[in-house]
Amino acid sequence: MHGLQCPKLLWYEYNDRSSLPPPEPALEFAFSEGHRVGAQARCLFPDGLMIERSWDPREQHARSLKALEQRRPLFEAGFVHGRAYALADILVPVEQDQWDLIEVKASTGLKEEHYHDIAFQRYVYQGAGLKLRRAYLMHVNRDYVRHGRIDPKGLLVQHDASRESEVLEHGVSRKIEAMVKAMAAEKAPEVKIGPHCTSPRDCPMIDLCWNFLPDKDSIFILYSGGRKSHELLEQGVESITDIPDEFELNYRQEIQVRAHKENRPYVERDSLRRFLEQIKYPAYFIDFETVAPAVPLFEGSSPYEYIPFQFSLYIVDSESALPRHHAFLAEGRSDPRPVVLQQLKALLGDQGSIIAYSAGFEKRCLKEAARAFPQYLDWQKRLDDRFVDLLEPFQKFYFYHPAQNGRASLKNVLPALTGDSYQGLAIAEGGAASAEFFRVTYGDKAVPDNEEQKVRQALLDYCDLDTRGMVAILAALRQAVT
Ligand code: SF4
Repeated sequence: MHGLQCPKLLWYEYNDRSSLPPPEPALEFAFSEGHRVGAQARCLFPDGLMIERSWDPREQHARSLKALEQRRPLFEAGFVHGRAYALADILVPVEQDQWDLIEVKASTGLKEEHYHDIAFQRYVYQGAGLKLRRAYLMHVNRDYVRHGRIDPKGLLVQHDASRESEVLEHGVSRKIEAMVKAMAAEKAPEVKIGPHCTSPRDCPMIDLCWNFLPDKDSIFILYSGGRKSHELLEQGVESITDIPDEFELNYRQEIQVRAHKENRPYVERDSLRRFLEQIKYPAYFIDFETVAPAVPLFEGSSPYEYIPFQFSLYIVDSESALPRHHAFLAEGRSDPRPVVLQQLKALLGDQGSIIAYSAGFEKRCLKEAARAFPQYLDWQKRLDDRFVDLLEPFQKFYFYHPAQNGRASLKNVLPALTGDSYQGLAIAEGGAASAEFFRVTYGDKAVPDNEEQKVRQALLDYCDLDTRGMVAILAALRQAVT
């Protein structure tokens, strides 16, 4: 997959792995979710045989060839063909001496890259002499709802990818040849940065390859810049402040570029005033942290459903009052949603604005939690109209500060407006919060008490800053319109 994205990335993977940054906790969490989904898929074949893993591909090949003779479903059978090696999630014996291949994905849908993956596997297994009948992609069913023990038949769905993989298989040997050549080169190939650096996913080499761009005002902070930024770079424009006046920009990009060129914030006073006027006191500033496991942990929940395990809430009774703080962080392995709902019902009262950053997320968490605990449904529905999204003035460019670096996320807006920063926090973003809480609370490996306490404190600090930050941002916006 890395080879398809970029030959330079492949070269580093193969020749100089130490130059690649270690995976972030959120990526490691995604890997472990993949293992959990794979284990559920194997439950569909109770007479299946797991092939003991050898790190030597030829050894794995020999073991797998031998296992084929048993005509049982096989897990992790590995085969070598020329310079290519692949491990099959599941091989199922079918009529005569044929096999069906099943590749398991932890996603809820199929992506282009999955077809390339399975086409590569077909190429290897058939080249190694295996007779394949059909090739399937198995993935998580988003609509599954857990009742009692996990039912793998409901959790997973299977898609026949024989046609697509057969078509793509034709290009596999040519691609392997090109990749082997790139890997064998003495030096990493010269590859210009481009849209491929962020598609199908962010390349781990971005920090290295993009470091020629200016730290401040890079052309890639242009709002919704996409191909426009690459086009400008092609013309030699590296800084947003050097964009020629005649270059066509949309309304929001115009605002942003002007703010950077003049090096001062842009304020659309009337729109911002109207936004601020809708806030009613007491105002409740709220932020959730959640886990969203692929294999649902709790009764009545679905794959990747957001389960709030923590909230931080600041209550401000009037424009001039000091904020009061409440925090909750779940303990133990049981479902945190009933306690979250119960506590919030007591804290949120029945009037006043509920302010969140990207409020759709908090609303969705409450809605899904109330669906599982219907005694809260009426209350949850009444909350909906009270929500105010603090992202709105930044997303709609009622306010833009050059220090936001083209972004409207809380992580960029907070330092730009208040000077507060997430730097130095042990947990500094939502993906890490989720992965770390999952690891110390629901993970398979026991975690020492002191490590768990450190993670819990880091979670409290992080969620607190998110909400305290919102209080400070609102004050800064009020200041901007006076
Ligand atoms: S950052 Fe872009 S150019 Fe560099 S290795 Fe990744 S994909 Fe290739």
